Parts: sequence; structure tokens; C-alpha cells
Amino acid sequence: MKELGGAKRIVVKVGSALLVGAGGAADAHWLHAFAADIHRLRERGQQVLVVSSGAVALGRRRLGLARRALSLPEKQAAAAAGQSALMRAWEEAFEPHRLSAAQVLLTRDDTEVRRRWLNARATIETLLALGVVPVINENDTVTTEEIRYGDNDRLAARVAQMIGADLLVLLSDVDGLYTADPRRDPGARHVEHVAQLTPQIEAMAGGANAGAGLGSGGMATKLAAARIASAAGCATVITLGHRPSPLAALEAGARATVIAPSTTPAAAYKAWIAGSLAPAGALVVDAGAAAAVRRGKSLLAAGLRRVEGRFEKGDAVVIVDEAGAEIARGLARYEAADASRICGLKSAAIEPAIGYTCGPVVHADDLALVQAGAAR
Ligand code: GLU
Repeated sequence: MKELGGAKRIVVKVGSALLVGAGGAADAHWLHAFAADIHRLRERGQQVLVVSSGAVALGRRRLGLARRALSLPEKQAAAAAGQSALMRAWEEAFEPHRLSAAQVLLTRDDTEVRRRWLNARATIETLLALGVVPVINENDTVTTEEIRYGDNDRLAARVAQMIGADLLVLLSDVDGLYTADPRRDPGARHVEHVAQLTPQIEAMAGGANAGAGLGSGGMATKLAAARIASAAGCATVITLGHRPSPLAALEAGARATVIAPSTTPAAAYKAWIAGSLAPAGALVVDAGAAAAVRRGKSLLAAGLRRVEGRFEKGDAVVIVDEAGAEIARGLARYEAADASRICGLKSAAIEPAIGYTCGPVVHADDLALVQAGAAR
């Protein structure tokens, strides 16, 4: 499977059924083999993030909660008790490979409210830059039904979108998508490649494959995750996790379904900035800054002339030249009042002026150019 070898940033979703053994304890054997998988990818220079379920399953055992449906507070209690056991299991598995794990617990707001999203992204980017493997789960202890993702397939897709991953691997208890339920229909065919998630493809998951997958997400949830990923420029692979080194197996040609991305991560992100966000203000810049932004550079405070409107850090703003022509849209790294106070300042003078610095006013990564001459 060529997707895995060529990916730079890979999010791997590991479900509870894989890492919690029959007795309710973490399956150290599987985890060790999977850690070797991660180690190999990292040695090749690929970045790996893990989205790991298992907190509730491990916590049940710790708290002696019987195998019955849990109430929400019980689930939350189990998640609190199990999350630390889960991290211990990951750390023990990583240790022989000298890999460091870092726990990241997210709620839905962290991927939907822009300021929180920017914060979470900055932390995860820093962890990756430090060579750490983020081990991400939903913060089940504080999330209630209305504000949960509820399943880690979707959480994994949102994480992939947030950090511009190019591959999402959903390790599952099925080796991909079938045209019908393979357990019942001898004529069911495995689908190797999905170029586009059409209603016909979705129907395959909604009907016969609906029950596939333990944990919270069946095949329909996996395709919902794949849809999010695809629109974010990220390919999705659904494959069997129940084997010692599932990523090595994948590269050796194990059966899987690949769902193609419909764009690239960078283009998806820029399109989101340019098209989906209502700008809350404007940054009026001098000619030098306008030229720099047009060349794809960050907007520095030094080139900022004036700030219009009221916006918070992380809000979308338009960047306009002194004649009022829109040059770009981007996400502001300072709220409007602070942006006003740093107009014209060199980078080193920002902190003395407002007590902190977040770098450029709009970072190049968060900028989308508009066509020259567009009216405001
Ligand atoms: N966050 C849940 C847990 O750690 C799992 C959710 C899921 O498996 O989709 O137990």
C-alpha cells in the first residue's frame, strides 16, 4: 500500500477492542508490536499521532463496574480511572523504543471553536516538533452527551484535519469496506479503493456493514470520519488491527480500503480561511507588507498601519492595502486592541509594549491570498 510509505503525517486510530484484552486489561503484547510499527515509521522521518480509545474499558475493570450498560456519570468515572491506566500501557509499550508519549485529551469544542482549535493545534505541533508521539483521546470525564464526539473515528478525523495530516489509518476489526456483509453474502466483494464517497458507497456502510467494528463506531462512522478527512486533504485507510504489527502488515500488502482525499491539506485549510469564515475586522498594511503578504510571507506588526473592527485572537480578518484593496484573509494572532497597540512595531518591541508576543500578526500558514484587485 503506497499511501503509508509516502505519508508525512499519519494519525492512527486504535480502538478499545484492540488494546484491551479479553480479561479487561491492556493487551501489552499487541501494544509492544504496534510500538515497533510506530518506531519504524518515525525512523523514516514520518510523524505519527495516535488516537487511542480504551479509557472506559480499562476504567471499568479498575473500578469493578460490571459488564452492563453504564450511566453517563459512571462512564465518566470509568474514563477518569482508565485514562491513566491507558497512558501507562502506552508508555510501557513505547519505552523499549525510546519513544515518548504525551497525553492530549480533547473535547468537541477543541476542534470546533476556533480559538481553542488554534491552541490545541499549537500544542500538538509543538509535541511533534519535540519528537513526541501525541496519544489523543476524548476527554470523556468532562464531556456530556450533547458535547461529545462520542466515537474516536470522528475524533481522529478532526485531529487529522486540525494538524493537516495526509493519512488517517482506522485500525478496525474488519479489513475494509465490502459491497455487502461478507459474513452473510458469499458474493460480497471487498472494495480496495474509493475515489469519491458517493451515496452508493455510503449505502454499503449504512446497510450490510453497519454492525462492523466494535466500540462505538461501525462502518458508517468510519465513512463519516473518512468524509471529514477527505475534505481536509487526508486519505483514509480502513484495515484490520487485530494482528501484531498492523502497519507493517499494511505495507506488506494486507487487505485494506483506501478512501482518497478530495484536495490537499494546505488547499483545504486555505479554502476554509478564504471561504468559510466571516471576517471580524480588517488589518490595513503598508506597501512593503502588502508585497510581502502577496509573496506568501507572514504579516509582521512592522507593516501594520491601522486596525479596523473588533476581533479576538484566532478570528478571521481581511488584510487590505492603504487603498482599501483586499490582499488576503487570515487568522489574527492578536485581539484587535492589542493589534492596534503593536502597529508599526518591530517584532522585538511587541512584548515590551503589550506584555506578551504571539509572533507575526498573521502567520503565513494562516493566510489565504485573494485575487489581486478584489473589492472589499
Ligand atoms: N473515548 C472512549 C474511550 O477511551 C472511546 C470512544 C470510542 O471507542 O470510539 O474509552
